[in-house]
Amino acid sequence: MTTARRRIALLFAMEAEAAPLIETLGLRQDQEFGDPRLPFLHYRGEFAESLELLLSVNGKDPRFGVDNIGTEPATLNAYLTLRGFRPELCISAGTAGGFIRCGGALGDVYVSDRPFCFHDRRIPIPGFDQYGIGSYPSASYAGMARALGLKEGGVSTGNSLDFTERCLAGMERSGASVKEMEAAAIAWVAWCLKIPFLALKSITDLVDGEHPTEDEFLRNLRTASRLLREKTVEVLRYLATSPPA
Ligand code: SAH
Repeated sequence: MTTARRRIALLFAMEAEAAPLIETLGLRQDQEFGDPRLPFLHYRGEFAESLELLLSVNGKDPRFGVDNIGTEPATLNAYLTLRGFRPELCISAGTAGGFIRCGGALGDVYVSDRPFCFHDRRIPIPGFDQYGIGSYPSASYAGMARALGLKEGGVSTGNSLDFTERCLAGMERSGASVKEMEAAAIAWVAWCLKIPFLALKSITDLVDGEHPTEDEFLRNLRTASRLLREKTVEVLRYLATSPPA
């Protein structure tokens, strides 16, 4: 007799972020899942006999040979993955910028603890202003964060690796301690489909630090992705042994 496994979806933007986890969990590519016209990659596996996993990566842009980062691929892949797999929980995993003023440090892994906002959708018309910010819910995993020593914080999303003063002000207003390029877009999809959602983000660079983001990001991408793998495995172990939400 087989017992029903609980389905968890893990969404990554960059192959370098996902590769360590795919290898450690021994996930297998599923070429049948999704839409062959799209660049996304999907991997399947199990964890501790109680979780069924689908890990999706946004793949490369064939023209430029770089990862499909940012909100458009994240949105489309989230819809495809969540619609096809119907998980009980969706996790956006990846790297991000942190803030010294929030106590952030390189290599920290954060779990989202408040709504996901956009910091670059400025629409100064009543109603649209709030719509632009988004503010889509995060599942609440405070107990898990404490048990696993994860930092907790708000995640803010925009389509630039750099930022303007207005972006910074938006992030401060929404109480974000993590800046990246996909989570709020996925949060919108998960909210539409009524699927609990959280983000796990490993800090590659410090937004209010002294180094240019792109240099710091590239220098720390591998290490941060390995730390992300360790924490994601711990999160899966926690989920495998805790009752369904
Ligand atoms: N030149 C890099 C570009 C990566 S862009 C390359 O292709 O190798 C950054 C990616 O990491 C995005 O997917 C984003 O979600 C995340 N990220 C890490 N640090 C970030 C920051 N400070 N601001 C925005 N996104 C960041």
